[in-house]
Amino acid sequence: MWTHKFMTYTEIKEKGEKKYYYKVKSIRHGKKVGKQRVYLGVNLSKQELQQKEQDADKILSGISESKESEASKIAKQAEKQQKSKQPQKQNNNKTKKTTFQIDKGKNFSEWYTDIIKKAELADLRNNVKGFIVFQPWSVMAMEKMYGYMEKTLQRKGHKPYWFPTLIPESNLTKESSHIKGFTPDVFWVTHGGETKLEERYALRPTSETLFYQMFSKWIRSYKDLPLKAYQRANVFRYETKATRPFLRSREFHWIEAHCAHETQEDAMKQVHEDMETTQEVLHDIFGLPFIFFERPAWDKFPGAHRTFAADVLNPDGKIVQQPSTHLISQEFSKAFDVKFTDKDEKEKLAWITCYGPAISRIFASIIAVHGDNKGLKFPWKIAPVQVMIIPIGEDDEVKKQAENIKQHLLENNISVEIDNSEKRLGEKFYFWEMKGIPLRIEFGNKELKENKLTIFRRDTDEKEKINAKDLISYINTTSQDIDKNLIKQADNLFKNKIINAKTKQEIKEIIDAGKIARCGFCSVDKDGTKCAETIEKEINGEVRGTKLGEKNTETKCIVCNKKAKHTVYISKAY
Ligand SMILES: [Zn+2]
Repeated sequence: MWTHKFMTYTEIKEKGEKKYYYKVKSIRHGKKVGKQRVYLGVNLSKQELQQKEQDADKILSGISESKESEASKIAKQAEKQQKSKQPQKQNNNKTKKTTFQIDKGKNFSEWYTDIIKKAELADLRNNVKGFIVFQPWSVMAMEKMYGYMEKTLQRKGHKPYWFPTLIPESNLTKESSHIKGFTPDVFWVTHGGETKLEERYALRPTSETLFYQMFSKWIRSYKDLPLKAYQRANVFRYETKATRPFLRSREFHWIEAHCAHETQEDAMKQVHEDMETTQEVLHDIFGLPFIFFERPAWDKFPGAHRTFAADVLNPDGKIVQQPSTHLISQEFSKAFDVKFTDKDEKEKLAWITCYGPAISRIFASIIAVHGDNKGLKFPWKIAPVQVMIIPIGEDDEVKKQAENIKQHLLENNISVEIDNSEKRLGEKFYFWEMKGIPLRIEFGNKELKENKLTIFRRDTDEKEKINAKDLISYINTTSQDIDKNLIKQADNLFKNKIINAKTKQEIKEIIDAGKIARCGFCSVDKDGTKCAETIEKEINGEVRGTKLGEKNTETKCIVCNKKAKHTVYISKAY
């Protein structure tokens, strides 16, 4: 029987870094037979070090006689733990730290907060409330998301612009319902250096009042229409509701598209095009299912004639509003003098639409909808890194081959990295699974000799061996499978989630169970406001609106019992 005596850690300073090792004495039949070092990590805090030691203790205690080095035993042990997919014990701090294991279904809120920290998506310790630091792992994904959204808009004839961040107060006040809607949210710039400005400037909460002022200068005749513009920008809103990273913060990153058209009919075509764009990008690429609702009168965008918004169902049963598209009221064209001379020589007001996919908010839904108890899962096309290569062992040939594979993948436009860190093998596996990388390639000497590669798929949690020469064709097929699979799983979220209700009590039961209630409602125009307030006050539900193109089949309003003009959908919402 071997036993191991554990000694305290050693600290070795190398190139300004402190590396920590754990000294292990191996004893057999009472005699010391060896002394080994186990690598613990670099630049560890005292607390992290303690956790690492406890963990090494635990793993080494369970190891029986073997000729293998202690380090590789630890790696194998960790791999075994990962394979068995046992939930990690809560009291094992170290394991809790390197693995991620939170029941997303039961503790969604904790899961969401924790994964943002562990996967290094955002750092919330910035010292301005509601303003967070977006870290590379989220920015790399959001850059790709911007790319797909912008390419789609440009393909449909939108041209990119960069408008200024500051909006003069006089622009904002030109259209009364717009300013009324946005005043509470505005951050004001009042000084230039020490000098008080003659007019306050708003940090853009949205840019209608800048775009339309310029539209009036650019548009002269019907020949200038449609004018389809957009910009990617960060916008600022003084949110008073509780902020949550990506979902609601005081600065967020979005695209705003603004268009001017000759007729209301053309403008409505644009609204439909925006809804199709949402389907093509959010659903078909990002894998997010949603339902478009036309918002009730009391919930329209300030200044809009009609508002349509895509609602995504969060795993906790609450709705998150994603892109909305608006037919802007002609009060706006009037206020900003957006006119054109039509074919009949008459001067007419243009019809304006705007569309606002908020990339950082959409990212919140990608985290929430696709992730599982082990962490993030990225759709292939927007994964910050698509493939992680993990060479096994210290063999130079293996390392060289890893580099070759990386170059080969890069040449095929696949984003890839190699993990050559000194972390334990199991730790590497956990870490990149938690980070949501779709594919992992692992291979050591044995595979190298056989010309094989082991591939792990994050979406199915399965491993398979392939011939090294088939790698690219394997990835081309599998990447499509991964996206199809994630879309299918996400689509199931909405399955059987819409339930008809006949009483307020039934609505309450439905929305408390994380579903969406469908019922009759007196009106989604201004006169229905009171009944909507009752729903909010009594059962904490929100009227999301009517489904486009759906005919009302209900007879009575679920609140006031008057004749139902509309069939509405009610849910809990963020
Ligand atoms: Zn009513």
